Amino acid sequence: MKILMASSEAVPFAKTGGLADMVSSLSRALAALGHEVCIALPRYYGIDKSRLKALEGAMGVPMGGGEEWCAVLESVLPGPNGKQNKNNVRVFFIDHEKFFGRDGIYGTPSEPDFLDNPRRFTFFSRSIFQLCRKIGWYPDIIHAHDWPAALSAVYLKFSERFNNFAKTVSALTVHNLGYQGIYSRDNYYHTGLGWDVFYRAGFEDGNMMNMLRAGIYSADTLNTVSPHYAEETMTGEYGFRLDGVLRYRSSSYRGILNGIDTDTWNPEKDSFIPCPYSAKNMEGKSKAKKALQKEFGLEPNADVPVIGLISRLTGQKGVGELFGPAYGSAYPICRDMNIQFAILGSGESWCENELRSLSMRLPNLKARIGYDERLAHLIEAGSDFFLMPSRYEPSGLNQMYSLSYGTIPIVRNTGGLVDTVENFNEATGTGTGFMFNDLTPDAIYNTVGWAVWAWYNRRPQIEEMRKRGMKKDFSWENSAKKYVIMYEEAVSKTQ
Ligand code: ADP
Repeated sequence: MKILMASSEAVPFAKTGGLADMVSSLSRALAALGHEVCIALPRYYGIDKSRLKALEGAMGVPMGGGEEWCAVLESVLPGPNGKQNKNNVRVFFIDHEKFFGRDGIYGTPSEPDFLDNPRRFTFFSRSIFQLCRKIGWYPDIIHAHDWPAALSAVYLKFSERFNNFAKTVSALTVHNLGYQGIYSRDNYYHTGLGWDVFYRAGFEDGNMMNMLRAGIYSADTLNTVSPHYAEETMTGEYGFRLDGVLRYRSSSYRGILNGIDTDTWNPEKDSFIPCPYSAKNMEGKSKAKKALQKEFGLEPNADVPVIGLISRLTGQKGVGELFGPAYGSAYPICRDMNIQFAILGSGESWCENELRSLSMRLPNLKARIGYDERLAHLIEAGSDFFLMPSRYEPSGLNQMYSLSYGTIPIVRNTGGLVDTVENFNEATGTGTGFMFNDLTPDAIYNTVGWAVWAWYNRRPQIEEMRKRGMKKDFSWENSAKKYVIMYEEAVSKTQ
């Protein structure tokens, strides 16, 4: 099959979150299964132009009543770790100075959501059709990711499905329903689509236009990034007001769990940790724990359990209940329990400040503020437990990394965490982690307490749990096959 990925992010070119990892890993895995995959991406200033090949001639893209002109640049997706990619996934960059000639992808710290984002990503979604015409390559599947590319499904359905695109179908992956691209209707003009399409395609959202909603209505097939999150998003609690639309589309909507990049996140060949290890020989894990304690200035003591946390510091990740000044559970956990807490994250400034303050007040809690790939690997390898008290979690990668590294996840019962972590059952001796239902400081405190109790009183069971987790297979190959089934079903329904 020929598959075109339309995305605003893909590693190593542009990344703000898990979406970027997913697009590249899925593309590689599909190519390894024998499919022909291209990625279309805007060219932001952060992407070094001198290393890309420019295609000849300018490309015109219809916008509003006129046309916008851009250039197209080309490269090849490198393999994981920047190695040469054997699978030859081609990447095309849409180079438009006015829309993408800036450093931020969606915004900057002073302007988190660029005012012209609806126009920028309308342009991007439209440009992919011109790109295909320019390179003479017509995909069977246009696979759009999140709201920035969602309009490509709308364009396919309402204005492009003819000639070379007559048999093309669209797939839309919703990575996080919390981001929908909701803007003033004034921006609709830029789509160049008639007002009938505004209503037929489902753009209407109160007084506003909702780009993700239109994508959900229009895509031939839809998914999100875990089966449990798919169920949750069809409820009022997790649906961010789109639960009704998702229920309406439920026969074409599914959850496919993200995989992890097992070349990069693999304790047997991780170059960021002092010594590789596996379930058969865990010595390297003890060394990683020692290195982690040293790096974070924690007492070097193998007997005390280390709890790790790596996160964007935002409400979605449960940081209010954990670190909220005066009510969060982190302080009483560190005060009452014989544990160590190693934290890496960046995000909301109140939370960064609170973490700095907790690090000074508590000898057994140390936080690093910032984004640090190497430290993330060291925390995954060197911790005994990994805490993810997420409010919602579409897929979640860190709990999968943790399981592979023999680090026991302590998670909230939500989203992809449910699909990947099995709760500990002392009586039957089963489970791979510890789980709680309510997102409250008490529930976090009690569940961490349960895990710490098991560490000190049920150590053989803890060691068994680690090994069970390390046996799990989260490779992308499994997930990519499910995407192929989704594509094939959509193709057969549409033709
Ligand atoms: P989300 O995409 O919602 O942030 P995921 O768990 O799906 O959450 O993926 C987050 C990814 O970003 C993980 O690979 C995680 O290790 C990484 N990450 C998050 N914050 C940091 C940080 N401060 N430093 C290094 N890596 C981070």
